[in-house]
Amino acid sequence: MSRQTADSAVVIGLEVHLQLNTATKIFCGCPTRFGAPPNSQVCPVCLGFPGVLPVLNRQVLRYGIRVALGLNCSIQPKIVFHRKNYFYPDLPKAFQISQYDLPLGSSGFVDLENKKVRINRVHMEEDAGKLIHKEGEPASLVDYNRCGIPLLEIVSEPDLCSPEEAYAYLKTLKGILQYLEVSDCDMEKGSLRCDANVSLRPQPDVLGAKVEIKNLNSFKAVARSLSYEIRRQGEILEEGGRVVQETRLWDDVKGVTQGMRSKEFAHDYRYFPEPDLVPFSVSTEEVEAVRAALPELPAQRARRFMAAYGLPPADARQLTAEKATADYFEQCVKALPAPVENKRGKVFANWIVSDISREINERGLENIQALGFPPSSLIELIGLVESGAISGKMAKEVFIESLASKKSPAAVVAAKGMSQVTDRQAIREAALAVIQEQPKAAEDFRNGKAQALMFMVGQLMKKTKGAASPAISQEILKELLGGENS
Ligand code: ADP
Ligand code: ZN
Ligand code: MG
Repeated sequence: MSRQTADSAVVIGLEVHLQLNTATKIFCGCPTRFGAPPNSQVCPVCLGFPGVLPVLNRQVLRYGIRVALGLNCSIQPKIVFHRKNYFYPDLPKAFQISQYDLPLGSSGFVDLENKKVRINRVHMEEDAGKLIHKEGEPASLVDYNRCGIPLLEIVSEPDLCSPEEAYAYLKTLKGILQYLEVSDCDMEKGSLRCDANVSLRPQPDVLGAKVEIKNLNSFKAVARSLSYEIRRQGEILEEGGRVVQETRLWDDVKGVTQGMRSKEFAHDYRYFPEPDLVPFSVSTEEVEAVRAALPELPAQRARRFMAAYGLPPADARQLTAEKATADYFEQCVKALPAPVENKRGKVFANWIVSDISREINERGLENIQALGFPPSSLIELIGLVESGAISGKMAKEVFIESLASKKSPAAVVAAKGMSQVTDRQAIREAALAVIQEQPKAAEDFRNGKAQALMFMVGQLMKKTKGAASPAISQEILKELLGGENS
């Protein structure tokens, strides 16, 4: 890796657009339902007919304050909207109502595992329509249903230093936004969109020209496009060239960014205050009411899990990063008979952060709910282990089989005739065979080496293909070996 592309030289800032899940649009009463027939959810206001007057949806303001507070921002008490002027066929008014010099929230932060990422601003704005380009059609179609859908723009400071960190920031941010329940945060539906800005420092303490990357459809695409850009810019600098400030589009199939003609997309928005929306003040009471109604957020929840269940910080963080996962965990432990001991929480946490998470990742699922293994199934599975019906090793197989067959763990155990061998006679026979095959270990144990017993239990498990109860195996081996350790 060259000097220019060393991590410390990489500067990344992200702009995230979040679609709010209000019932109606930001400045009119049109519904916001996703997937409605094209141009069926429009009115003169969101189509920008002459003479109409926008009226701010109060729920958008409340949600905006909620997000700004959740991201530790200060709230701007004076609400002012601006017109951002530009021409594009999906924008019938030829301007977007947005916020400019007085954003709703400013100077916040998001805590990552090893760093604080500063939030520059959170502001409210309206969305534009959608152009539909059909292969082989001579013209494009336009759907105005999305015009006037409320958005929050969340802008980070350029505090991120690698594609991995950008990815972690987006994951953390999405987690917080999901907890706040203001959006479905679904990137596929376009409810969460991200533009990435990246530059390389020509010298320490000097910022380089930034490139803005658009057309990013997943967090993975964000990370991949950033890696590509860092390499591309590094090569330019290495050859003694200069990076031009521009907007580039990510091509996810080719895995490259491509420059857009900068003249056509030159930014001169001629912002001016929106004359149809009179500035107004938000009272301290209103802000405090929103603050009082904030839910427990991931960081607080992680601290509570650590205290209540004795979970290590990394597990607590992983469990609480997504609301669905943390809810799942709590549903499991709450179903246990009281009093809930720390240890019991840990057993569930271990399953969720290891086996269950692995399956979610391997299957590329949206969240834990999509796995089709409800809390009741995990409770049942752990119950089977704790009652001695199956071994811990068998539980892993039962889990996979339960996912494949969509049967409950108990039904899998019954159907497969799986059950732990607790028959003392069967275990005794296997134990005798192990002692005969492993005379050295048997000797060691008799001479006081306690570890030798664990080795022999392992051999016994192997012989019975993991079916023997480890506790009974250990007991019988000790009994047969006698010696100082028994
Ligand atoms: P613009 O005026 O082009 O919108 P801003 O200063 O508002 O630029 O920043 C937009 C985004 O770009 C922010 O997320 C910010 O953190 C990021 N950014 C700003 N300067 C740089 C830079 N030199 N390198 C990388 N990202 C940057
Ligand atoms: Zn409308
Ligand atoms: Mg800006």
